[in-house]
Amino acid sequence: MTYSQFIPPRRTLMGPGPSDVSIRVLHAMARPTIGHLDPEFIRLMDEIKTLLQYAFKTKNALTLPVSAPGSAGMETCFVNLIEPGEKVIVCVNGVFGRRMVENVERCGGIPILVENAWGSAVSLKSVENVLNEHTDAVALAFVHAETSTGVVSDAKGLAALAKNHDCLSIVDAVTSLGGIELEVDAWGIDAIYSGTQKCLSAAPGISPVSFSEKAAAKIQARKHPVQSWFMDLNLVMGYWGGDAKRTYHHTAPVNALYGLHESLLLLKEEGLQSAWLRHSYHHEALKAGLEALGLELTVDECCRTPQLNAVRVPDGVDEAAIRAYLLNTFNIEIGAGLGALAGKVWRIGLMGQSACRENVVLCLEALDSALSHQGYQHKAGAGVAAAELYYSN
Ligand SMILES: *Cc1c(COP(=O)(O)O)cnc(C)c1O
Repeated sequence: MTYSQFIPPRRTLMGPGPSDVSIRVLHAMARPTIGHLDPEFIRLMDEIKTLLQYAFKTKNALTLPVSAPGSAGMETCFVNLIEPGEKVIVCVNGVFGRRMVENVERCGGIPILVENAWGSAVSLKSVENVLNEHTDAVALAFVHAETSTGVVSDAKGLAALAKNHDCLSIVDAVTSLGGIELEVDAWGIDAIYSGTQKCLSAAPGISPVSFSEKAAAKIQARKHPVQSWFMDLNLVMGYWGGDAKRTYHHTAPVNALYGLHESLLLLKEEGLQSAWLRHSYHHEALKAGLEALGLELTVDECCRTPQLNAVRVPDGVDEAAIRAYLLNTFNIEIGAGLGALAGKVWRIGLMGQSACRENVVLCLEALDSALSHQGYQHKAGAGVAAAELYYSN
């Protein structure tokens, strides 16, 4: 057995994450490692916090990047906010809502489910009925953009419902942050978590989170200690906290944070609004191209999330073989369906840096070729032509 350096292939990442990481971010991560308590690193941490406040549109002091992926951001919210015996209303319309339920259970909480079909948005009416029925619930949890189905739910409306019923809102913004409109303070969101590898286009492995004063007060007033030592924000804040002297909690992923900082700078330079617009712009071009190839988006127009496009696999087409062809022939990664949608859809991501004209056109060309390869009847070249037409108008 001989070992050698690992040189990854060059891929175009158009799945449900990770997304393409820009060369600026990769270069930032290659800079020299310094100590996690170095005054220069502390300065970088403060900048990351204010840049995250910008991205989340919040003034929340308790805004920081958790040193682990999006799933850990989810867990950080639940383990800190939920105590044994507390009721949490959880909206489930895909894979990630289901994971929230498991989190509530593992915290000893009592999940009350509001289920909506996979592929539809969370129904505000159903949520309101359940809130009226369970007046003792302490929180309402939901996924803003369900990556498993490509559906966006009305986060503003849901957060307002939570507020009206004296519940904290816990929001999964892993796929939404930086990709679609999201306003933590204006919408009154109490706890929110995201990830670096979706629309922020940084390397995977970090989870930005933010908590309102009300949420922070609930954490401070806990009767039981948080069962996770690593995620207990009361302890984490000794390192990431405000003005007090920073003390060691864990060794921060220093170079990964250089990368997050650079990706947030990119977002700031572009402007949040422009980034949201860019995602919907390229989504429209992709949609035009897919439809010209005879393909169909599975989600109703009302609630499609532009950064994740679920495409129905036509009858007679081998779903996995198309993905393999894209990867092997064009170096493009797209996603498979999850759970109930396995084998039935492809998930094409336009997240962060991946939301660009070059990727849209390449993906349509590759799909065209892959479909021809399987003998699927369609107008060759029509996909790229439709996208180019959209871009030229
Ligand atoms: C990707 C994703 C997660 C999990 O993030 P990881 O970084 O993979 O742990 C959670 N929620 C949603 C909506 C996601 O898309």
